[in-house]
Amino acid sequence: MSNENMAELLFSDVGQLPTDIYSLYPPRNLSISAMVTRFAPSPTGSLNIGGLYAALISERLAHQSNGVFFLRIEDTDKKREIKGGIENIIHSLLYFGIHFDEGPTLSGGEKGALGPYKQSSRIKIYKIFIKHLVQKGLAYPCFCDKDDLQKIRISQQNLKVTTGYYGQWAKHRDISFGQAKEEILDGKPFVIRLRSSGSPDRRIIYNDLVKGPIELPENFQDIVIMKTDGLPTYHFAHAIDDYLMGTTHVIRGDEWLSSVPIHIQLFETLGFEIPEYGHIAPIMKQVGASKRKFSKRKDLDGTAEYYREQGYPGIAIGEYFMNLINSDFEEWRMVNPHKSFRDFFIYTDKMNASGALLDMNKLGDISKDVISRLTGKQVFDHLYTWSKEFDSELYTLIDKNKEYTVKILNIGRTIEKPRKDYSKWSDLKTIIAFFYDEWFEKDVLGGYKIPTNVSLDVAKEIVLGFSKTYRFNNEKEAWFHEIKELAVELGFAKEIKQFKANPNRYKGHVGDVAMVLRAALTNRTNTPDLFDIMKVMGENRVFERMERFMLS
Ligand code: GLU
Repeated sequence: MSNENMAELLFSDVGQLPTDIYSLYPPRNLSISAMVTRFAPSPTGSLNIGGLYAALISERLAHQSNGVFFLRIEDTDKKREIKGGIENIIHSLLYFGIHFDEGPTLSGGEKGALGPYKQSSRIKIYKIFIKHLVQKGLAYPCFCDKDDLQKIRISQQNLKVTTGYYGQWAKHRDISFGQAKEEILDGKPFVIRLRSSGSPDRRIIYNDLVKGPIELPENFQDIVIMKTDGLPTYHFAHAIDDYLMGTTHVIRGDEWLSSVPIHIQLFETLGFEIPEYGHIAPIMKQVGASKRKFSKRKDLDGTAEYYREQGYPGIAIGEYFMNLINSDFEEWRMVNPHKSFRDFFIYTDKMNASGALLDMNKLGDISKDVISRLTGKQVFDHLYTWSKEFDSELYTLIDKNKEYTVKILNIGRTIEKPRKDYSKWSDLKTIIAFFYDEWFEKDVLGGYKIPTNVSLDVAKEIVLGFSKTYRFNNEKEAWFHEIKELAVELGFAKEIKQFKANPNRYKGHVGDVAMVLRAALTNRTNTPDLFDIMKVMGENRVFERMERFMLS
């Protein structure tokens, strides 16, 4: 009876029972092998690369087994929450193609029947379960403030015993109803603690999905399950939410590994089935020959947004992560070059328990491969969306020149070995800028980049000569033939070999002639095939640029 009274004293406003809640969370109707997983970030800062990695693993496990993957926002720490944090998480997940079946949406609503999916909207639910635990004598109010806890700790340190709030040290474990009432009337803040059934002499063993069998000491501390502000602790909310939402497999960072005994105890105390746990080591950063953890403050490339801002295609990150998740992905990819990475089945027990290494060069190469498989139009669509958010100058340029840009992006793409010279959308601007007259005109104000062994007068002669014979519709053979003829006419060697044999007889060789034309048309020393470029630029633009060069 006194437990009943205590529960009423603490939670007079809570009228419902756990059974009322269970009826709102019916079991999911899924096959026995289907996994239900979730990503449960706190909106307290940028989504880090490790979080994104864990999210992809969870999403893959769910969807490859025809299960459900959901997003739950753990926003019970209102002080640390940042503005736009939730939108940011959703944007990043969507950009990287990590689709969740249930959870908060960008419009501020939610999808899914087992919500709410934001912990701050679930306070009533937690309280119902906490009240129930108090009623059953499994939890109690603790009015100790910082000073009280400090005193306990000092006594424990003096006696050289384990510190913490447990056993005979748990001052309010057996607090009477009368005493609790007095403290409340005095306006004293309180937390709710779990009356732990654990013992320091016992150990638990469980099988981690990633790390294998793990043995840990049982939890014997009377841990806090509700804070003074009435909000649940992470541990408690985790047990309630993952049980009610039907999570079968919890994949999370290994900073939570040591909390497993607490979680198992909570699930058992609440009478809930315990989910499987898989703990992932943090992704490491390659720095020179060594590796280290990403630093929140120092490493910009430790956040998901960084990769989005840089314009790595979402699918390239997914593809790269697959290599880190299971190393045999690489072999599978070679056998299945055209399949989606989502067709590859991942296994948690094949994951590297000691942490994957993020290698930017490898990521860049994978990204180049991914981009090389896209059509010019697909690249355009990506670039258009990306630049709209991250590069307004580029956006304005390509928005004005949509068709021209698709043609530009098609260069070197429709051939057997497509170009692989860019790994992210932000690389593209400097590669394609010269095609646009606005940009080109600004660029040539600083002078043309002609080969140093050719004078400007000779360069102009080359361009003039070329403009006389140039026919836009000529095939590549004829076009190159003209360049060779021109070279000879102006005293350049037709072949590099000839030039090398007798360098003094020539002004240069045919390559220099082509270089001058390249400079006149693009003001670049390195471009894709010049013939293709001229085709895309169109007859008028080619002649305009040649004239401009001759007048320079
Ligand atoms: N909110 C926790 C975090 O930010 C979630 C951990 C979990 O996945 O259970 O790490």
